[in-house]
Amino acid sequence: MFSIIIALVLFRILQPQEDPYYNQRLQMVQHQIENRGIKDSSTLKAMRNVKRHLFVPKGSIKYAYDDRPLPIGYGQTISQPYCVAYMTEILKPGTDHKVLEIGTGSGYQAAVLAEIVDSMFTIEIIEELGKSAKKRLKNLEYNNVQVKIEDGYYGWEAHAPFDAIVVTAASEYIPPTLIKQLKDGGRMVIPIGSPFMVQTLMLVEKKGDKITTTSLIPVRFVSFTRSK
Ligand code: SAH
Repeated sequence: MFSIIIALVLFRILQPQEDPYYNQRLQMVQHQIENRGIKDSSTLKAMRNVKRHLFVPKGSIKYAYDDRPLPIGYGQTISQPYCVAYMTEILKPGTDHKVLEIGTGSGYQAAVLAEIVDSMFTIEIIEELGKSAKKRLKNLEYNNVQVKIEDGYYGWEAHAPFDAIVVTAASEYIPPTLIKQLKDGGRMVIPIGSPFMVQTLMLVEKKGDKITTTSLIPVRFVSFTRSK
């Protein structure tokens, strides 16, 4: 009898840790995302899968599933969950897609897209953030994500063209190199406007030589900076 109890205790201890935030995450998806009109099933599934609490600083874990952006250091933020889901859905990510992100930050948006697409490329200008995002994504086994530390203004020529591009920092205009690195039929989302003011999230679509832009929703992002 005693050995059975020991065996049961050991089994319990050695069992993989359950995810204590699972229910909070399901609630986040239902209340903040589905109830606000996000319908794409692959986006919803990815938002349910990615452990957002592992992308925020330790002191903010209790706020990880709140309806807001959170500071991640160096004056930068991890975007509000709804915003991440909205941008993901707008990109219409496909399982065979190659996607570029400018503004890795915590790596959260990259992880959400990596759950859906074939390969994900993401560029961060702040070395410390890029390094820790790279480590985090590797530890979480997002093996289809590559992180580069550089000014994302120039895109990632070696892997272009991309089916989709997501820019998560607000720029005054759409960088022409990024349009160039978009596939024919590709989609890009980018917040356009001045820092510290309400910006507009824009959808850029490329069809042959034709570029169309559509204003989507008002947003607030940190600014797109340039290397010196
Ligand atoms: N997508 C991120 C949100 C990051 S906030 C996440 O899910 O956590 C925007 C990020 O863009 C910041 O980390 C900022 O350093 C970065 N950034 C700003 N200008 C950039 C540029 N020119 N190239 C690459 N990254 C840039």
